[in-house]
Amino acid sequence: MTNTDIHVPTVLGVALPTPVRRLFDYRPNQDGPPTGWRPGQRVWVSFGRRELVGIIIECRQYSELPASDLKPILAWIDDAPLPADWLWLGRFASRYYQHALGDTLHQSLPARLRQGRPLAARTQERWHLTDKGKGVRAADLGRAKRQGALLELLHQHPRGLVHSAITAQGFTREQLEGLRDKCLAYAHAEPVIEAPRPQHILAEPALTLNQEQAAARAILHEGLDSFHPCLLHGVTGSGKTEIYLQLIEAVIKRDRQALILVPEIGLTPQTLTRFRRRFQVPVVAMHSGLTDTERLDAWFAAMSGRAPVVIGTRSAVFTPLARPGAIIVDEEHDTSLKQQDGLRYHARDLALVRARHHGIPIVLGSATPSLESLANARSGHYRHLRLTQRASRHAPARLELVDMRGRTNRGGLIPGVIDTIEATLRAGHQVLVFINRRGFAPTLACQSCGWMAECSHCDARLTLHRQPPLLACHHCEARHSLPDACPDCGSADLRPLGAGTERAEETLADLFPDTPVHRIDRDSTRRKDALEHTLNEVRRGTPCLLVGTQMLAKGHHLPHVTLVVVVNADAGLYASDFRALEHSAQLLEQVAGRAGRAHHPGRVLVQTLHSDDPHLSLLAEKGYEALADSLLEERRVAALPPYRYLALARFESPREGDVMALADTAAQAVKARLTDQAHTQCLGPVPAPMERRQGRYHVQLMLSSTHRSKLHEASAWLIDWLDRSSQARRVRWSLDIDPQTL
Ligand code: ADP
Ligand code: ZN
Ligand code: ZN
Repeated sequence: MTNTDIHVPTVLGVALPTPVRRLFDYRPNQDGPPTGWRPGQRVWVSFGRRELVGIIIECRQYSELPASDLKPILAWIDDAPLPADWLWLGRFASRYYQHALGDTLHQSLPARLRQGRPLAARTQERWHLTDKGKGVRAADLGRAKRQGALLELLHQHPRGLVHSAITAQGFTREQLEGLRDKCLAYAHAEPVIEAPRPQHILAEPALTLNQEQAAARAILHEGLDSFHPCLLHGVTGSGKTEIYLQLIEAVIKRDRQALILVPEIGLTPQTLTRFRRRFQVPVVAMHSGLTDTERLDAWFAAMSGRAPVVIGTRSAVFTPLARPGAIIVDEEHDTSLKQQDGLRYHARDLALVRARHHGIPIVLGSATPSLESLANARSGHYRHLRLTQRASRHAPARLELVDMRGRTNRGGLIPGVIDTIEATLRAGHQVLVFINRRGFAPTLACQSCGWMAECSHCDARLTLHRQPPLLACHHCEARHSLPDACPDCGSADLRPLGAGTERAEETLADLFPDTPVHRIDRDSTRRKDALEHTLNEVRRGTPCLLVGTQMLAKGHHLPHVTLVVVVNADAGLYASDFRALEHSAQLLEQVAGRAGRAHHPGRVLVQTLHSDDPHLSLLAEKGYEALADSLLEERRVAALPPYRYLALARFESPREGDVMALADTAAQAVKARLTDQAHTQCLGPVPAPMERRQGRYHVQLMLSSTHRSKLHEASAWLIDWLDRSSQARRVRWSLDIDPQTL
């Protein structure tokens, strides 16, 4: 570039971490970065009384403000701009989800970079023997025994050892420097995640694929150079992960990088080990457990191309990649892929957009695909790759519905089911009892007058807990000690109503005193590693009972479980949310998938009060796909996604009148604008399903359209209206494009 090519901008449009949907203009200062001002560079600016890290988005010659009003940039941070692929995706997400660009970019940046730290890799020392050192052994060093031992250690590692690995074995810096002073060893600095140049990519051989797997692999590997969306639709245990591993191998061989997104619950040490065991190259994990420094290291390793495999939860979709080669979204139906606050993005959808932008293949894997993805597969937008057989040869167990009506139960379990549990344990197998409610019982009730413990801040019952004993609201922070008597009538006859995991655990421990019972829910796994610890115990294979919530349902390979009991399947059947049935069917299939994954076939008993419910019977008799097809037809008739596009405006305030008044006025404004537009509707306002939550009133308004672009027009108009409405200042509001829950 010659000097005359550099246009020196007079105005810089900067994205700042604020919810305001616009850029802020600043004047470049004299002391610019060496290669000039460019979009993507971070800068320090003053904003009100604060100093903020901003990102340059536009370099221009004009501003709507007079030049004298523009404040100068305080200082530049980066000469090299932040990665272009990251910036592109952030800009896309901001536009698509109609969220402020500055906030979008900041949310998708590691904390260290948000704080203005330099974008550079941390380094570590790697120690090697010199040529002289290679010819010397411990015995040659005489009385310097520790130096001798250290020398021997380095002999065992021809590729050198990092400093921390050496000190971990009890050696000191002085001993290392002692060897260096004798010209026997030297150190060099390398980034903490080092570029791999192993002879072989694989650390363990790939499995020989069965016919279905081989067919799926062949199709996937046909198009490694093009955008190539595939739905890998395979029952649990059918070997989807093996297909991912072989795709990743192909990607690494081409010197590209693979990005794998997994649900929050799926990024267990077990999953990571499985990926790390296969490859010799570094597998970098991005998850909420990382420290800020580790996160920056991982981000940097990905953006510089040193990490060939990046695996992470939702937010990892924003990880920059130097040489993107493929994206894999595992459990693509999982609700944790959608962020429910701030930037309300869906990581699967952004992954698709990203893959198209890069022109690379993307695989969406699931045993229970979302209706969106299934519709895309049916219409030919995605290749539909099916795996119907399990590697273990036992077909996934069918759901057996067990009618609970009129039966007595103990802790939620009816006698016939208890008998089956007993028989399974006697046969030396393990049993999983699924109950999607933590705590002892959903509530505490008075036997005399019918009073039930309710939260004073939410439209919800308080959950009874035994460990420790208290009443807790699962929707806010409210905690109460147990009352001695009914607050309404004074009766002392208060009893738990229904069953949660704690009660099921207690009942099972009473029924089977000689069998260990492991409870797995958010309460029992608060301690770090508690979950992994329990699961390791279970994997040893001695007969035991597992009681747990959906934490147990997903991802875990529990080879010795042959019986799964679902205590109550009815919660999702009659919920108001139009996705509730889809989600509860997915959950039931996932739970059922835990049974019989190894040598023995499995059984799944599903207790229900609605055994004749058409959806539940269809799921039990014909399986998930049949139910999904029927739900898709219902959605088409009802004009719901994936046949319509939705945006949900949510309003909340401690003052009931304020929320409704604002939502009403907003609805009237939108409706007036939409009068002659048959393709787009505004529905509501209506109270949210739980109207009062955390002491605030929630009301919502739905925009619905046959066209995505029309939906975006209407949403943008509504946002603009709200931004300018004085009424809206007293109410918190947000807009959720493609909402996953109502
Ligand atoms: P999914 O991801 O579909 O639930 P996994 O990839 O976890 O299934 O596979 C389930 C089990 O089957 C694993 O133990 C895996 O090692 C094994 N497996 C997968 N594919 C094969 C194969 N082709 N040959 C033998 N075992 C296989
Ligand atoms: Zn009472
Ligand atoms: Zn509450």
